[in-house]
Amino acid sequence: MEMSPQQPFITTKLDEFTKWAQTSAIWPMTMGLACCAIEMMSIVSPRYDTSRFGAEVFRSSPRQSDLMIVSGRVANKMAPILRQLYDQMPDPKWVISMGACASSGGIFDNYAVLPGVDSILPVDVYVPGCPPSPDALIYALMQLRREIAAGGKANVLARG
Ligand code: SF4
Repeated sequence: MEMSPQQPFITTKLDEFTKWAQTSAIWPMTMGLACCAIEMMSIVSPRYDTSRFGAEVFRSSPRQSDLMIVSGRVANKMAPILRQLYDQMPDPKWVISMGACASSGGIFDNYAVLPGVDSILPVDVYVPGCPPSPDALIYALMQLRREIAAGGKANVLARG
């Protein structure tokens, strides 16, 4: 971004502006799937305070969200709904797979649970653990901010 000392306005590219906006204030969608969601919810509490990173505003609509945190196991029945919600989010959008169940099915090795949400969604950051701590999720958010700032879409493993 460039700001002229003579002119009271900033010029930039749309891509750069979007990166700046998303690294400053990414908005996760309100969506908890299982026990990992309890840890996810606590990141907005005063103890963890994700408003420090502009990520405390959980949106109720996928149209207003740019981050999906898949927090828990995904049942096969839920999979098409999850995909539909993802498709309703505006680009550019991001996905964090939180916990062993979201990333690999975890302890649920059976016909009813997806063996990893990356079979239906493009995951950007994986957070290991059962459940991952809120610190680990915040670390994943930091990793995602780096990825967005770098303009990449690489898969990252975030160990908290
Ligand atoms: S990873 Fe552990 S805490 Fe998270 S949904 Fe699976 S069983 Fe629950």
